[in-house]
Amino acid sequence: MSQASLAGPRAKNRQFRWNRLAVRTRIVITLVVLTLLAVLASGLVSYLLQRSAIQNRIDDSLASSIEEVRILAAEGVDPETGEPFVESDNLVFTAMTRHWPDTHESMLGLNSSGITYRANEIVPLRLEDDAQLVEELMSHADPDKFQQDVLLETISTDQATYRAAIIPVYFADDPEPSLLVFATDYSASLAELDAIFVTYTLIGIAVIAIVALIGSVTVGRQLSPLRKLQATAAEISDEDLDRRVPVTSEDDIADLSRTFNEMLDRIQSAFRSQRQLLDDVGHELRTPITIVQGNLELMNSRDVVDVEQVREISLDELDRVGRLVEDLMTLAKADRPDFVSLEAIDIEAFTREVLEKASRLGDREWSVDAATQIVHDFDNQRITQAWLQLANNAVKYSDDGTEIALGSKVRVDREEGTMLDLWVRDNGIGIAETDTARIFERFGRGGNSTRAEGSGLGLNIVTEIVRAHGGTVSVRSTLGYGSTFTMSFPLRND
Ligand code: ADP
Repeated sequence: MSQASLAGPRAKNRQFRWNRLAVRTRIVITLVVLTLLAVLASGLVSYLLQRSAIQNRIDDSLASSIEEVRILAAEGVDPETGEPFVESDNLVFTAMTRHWPDTHESMLGLNSSGITYRANEIVPLRLEDDAQLVEELMSHADPDKFQQDVLLETISTDQATYRAAIIPVYFADDPEPSLLVFATDYSASLAELDAIFVTYTLIGIAVIAIVALIGSVTVGRQLSPLRKLQATAAEISDEDLDRRVPVTSEDDIADLSRTFNEMLDRIQSAFRSQRQLLDDVGHELRTPITIVQGNLELMNSRDVVDVEQVREISLDELDRVGRLVEDLMTLAKADRPDFVSLEAIDIEAFTREVLEKASRLGDREWSVDAATQIVHDFDNQRITQAWLQLANNAVKYSDDGTEIALGSKVRVDREEGTMLDLWVRDNGIGIAETDTARIFERFGRGGNSTRAEGSGLGLNIVTEIVRAHGGTVSVRSTLGYGSTFTMSFPLRND
């Protein structure tokens, strides 16, 4: 098996675990990691800066010590003779008595035969005690290798690391050159810095712990509405859709809770209307079933006339059931996006075509009130279906020979804008004002209607078809004089 195929599942597994952690844990971990990075970065940078500052300070201090000796050699007076210095040994001695070492600094005088002068006993750093250092310094005091330049060197021994200024002291008339050494224990200065950074590390750990603690509490508090949301969602079942998430703040989590509650409102109303639909459909189906069952039970199968009558009733009722099922299926499709497929329609010709089809619905005086010359996007089949449904109703609720007129026109309304109206006007029985809202509801029948006259879904289907075209349906009616049902569609104002 190749290396790559082995790495795949393992990487996936790691990601899976991170995703499974609670959001609160993930946020707290992220906070802790970021704080750790900040503490580490600032600690490291300031450590390195401090370290180089220490090095510079030591070098500056050594440089000024070198300068002191240079001035002493050039301008000083030997206290023994009162004359300028002529012997290196004297200059070294005088320089050492006048120099006061810094912390971790000390000095040593040497010549080829060994150490000539040590620092005063109160200076804690004893250079002469570090044999390796002395050996290294003695190598510079060797007259054969004697160098005339001042050396600034870092010398590491088993005991310490020193930064040392090795100053050669010699005079023309003095056969014995000397070395004056100023050295600082660099490792001791660094140890002090390290001690400071141990404290820094401890404080850093405490800061990270505080960040984790405060972060965990704060994030927990911030996320508590989400937990309530989750708990509410878990408790909600289709039996109990009344519960809502309490909204107590104004932030984005409150927005989420509000959106969730709105979604619950919609689900609840969808559930209600679904239940209502089942109740309504059950109710509508029970009647034909009862009629067919009752008739079949009482039918005398030897009586041909009775059989014929029951057969007719049964077919009639089954026909009604069939129409009901078809209407329900049309309504079920109404919410789908492919419910209407639009095409440009010449409304004037369309008005006359629908009138032609409607006139076959019954023996009435059919006419056209108006036919507007406009081309509009409609689903030809669906709008024909809706318009014929209105015409069919007009036939159902009017007497033979009365007038039924279809019409289309463009109307400009101050509030609605430009509208295209398609209507059916009849001189039928009319509708009581109290019924005008109810008749548009599912299975809503007016007081003027009997069960025999329809499924009660006709206007509902008309409304759904018109709504799918962005329009509305309205009715104007006078009881005893007739009704006008109008489908109104907004026209684009271009
Ligand atoms: P139905 O199958 O009962 O006709 P509809 O939804 O088509 O169902 O109509 C609902 C109710 O509206 C009818 O029961 C009737 O009371 C009333 N209605 C519809 N059209 C007319 C009309 N042209 N004249 C009088 N009443 C009407």
